[in-house]
Amino acid sequence: MRFNILTIFPEIWPEYLKAGILGRAQEDKLVEMAVINIRDFTTDKHRTVDDSPYGGGAGMVLKIEPIAKAIDSINFQFSKTNFQTIRQLADQIQETETPRRRIIVLSARGEQFTQAKAEEYAKLDELVLICGRYEGIDQRVADYLADEEISIGPYVLNGGEVAAMVVIEAVARLLPGVLGNEESLKEESYSQKIRNPPASGGTPPDGGGKSINPKPSLRQTLRRARQNRNSKSLNSKRVVNPESQKDETASSFTVEYPQYTKPAEYKGWKVPEVLLSGNHEEIRKWREGQKKKSAR
Ligand code: SAM
Repeated sequence: MRFNILTIFPEIWPEYLKAGILGRAQEDKLVEMAVINIRDFTTDKHRTVDDSPYGGGAGMVLKIEPIAKAIDSINFQFSKTNFQTIRQLADQIQETETPRRRIIVLSARGEQFTQAKAEEYAKLDELVLICGRYEGIDQRVADYLADEEISIGPYVLNGGEVAAMVVIEAVARLLPGVLGNEESLKEESYSQKIRNPPASGGTPPDGGGKSINPKPSLRQTLRRARQNRNSKSLNSKRVVNPESQKDETASSFTVEYPQYTKPAEYKGWKVPEVLLSGNHEEIRKWREGQKKKSAR
């Protein structure tokens, strides 16, 4: 499997990628890592990758053009020649299929990354991980160039690199041969084989599936007891704000509105008119509406 990482900080990656399981997996030709510097696809002498947001606001937004070119530069004709037996066998079976790949934007607005997602990605030949920085990435990258927008959790990081590392770690270890001991995958938390029921009803962490393990392990029992204790003490201390209570019952999160920067039109994909209007009240209302629309 090949991971293509699009980043404006390529210098972060080499040390991380050559360490431990990932380093070994590359030596064994089980995975391939391609770090692509978005700045290499700029055309001006300052190698500009960002611009100010349409509609105003703090910070800068990563531009669509260099990212689009960086994606275009990827040779998706995934080489199948160097891989070891299990992979080669799988490839033979799938020879007639086109290579399976997914282009992913890392974003705090995205769908929550779960073990079920990791398992889905581990069946692909190729992942493209687009790392944002500053205020984020022009929304048209997610809307028109990528297949998915993925968040690693309900918090904001400085950049998508750590999020991409989380995805890489979770996916790579599921690939045949990457972990020395495949047994350790069998009963791993959140895996498709063992789905832990939630501590107090509701949906399991990956959003679905039934427990096929009726007898919890000692570790699970202890964890559930701890979770129950924590949630009881949290509930008793919590000062209830009617607004946040409303949000919690709908299990919604407030996510930021989409961001856009120049050009106003790219390949016919337009920035929403209202952001070009200069009407701050209209822009504010539009952004408010977008926040609600994105709530989960
Ligand atoms: N203004 C954005 C917001 O409020 O949602 C935050 C941008 S953040 C400072 C810069 C970049 O970090 C994002 O474009 C994204 O690539 C990455 N990032 C931040 N939090 C993330 C999360 N929870 N999951 C995945 N990527 C995240």
